Amino acid sequence: MAVINCPSCKKKISDKAKSCEHCQLDLTELDAEKIASLKRVSAVEKSQQLMTHSFIAMLLFCGGFLFLYWQDAQPGTWQYIVSITSTILGFILYLVTRVRLLLTKRNRA
Ligand SMILES: [Zn+2]
Repeated sequence: MAVINCPSCKKKISDKAKSCEHCQLDLTELDAEKIASLKRVSAVEKSQQLMTHSFIAMLLFCGGFLFLYWQDAQPGTWQYIVSITSTILGFILYLVTRVRLLLTKRNRA
């Protein structure tokens, strides 16, 4: 008996199992084509999720930056701290998300 990863939820299951004990996926009807399409779907979902993250990061960055600019926030005020934090967080989050997106695409190729 070998342990394989469920093609749907990626959790470890027995290769003799007829269905996944975690996500109830029916493994008896799975063939190579279905596994490939499940993998494609999860890759697309992953990159869509990352796209959403990078969009949120952009909003954080732009929002923080514009707020700082429009409010003419002075250093030491809460507005200044909030907008600087938001700008920096957004920037870092954006970079991290872009790198993760690149890695996801490279893994797929
Ligand atoms: Zn599963």
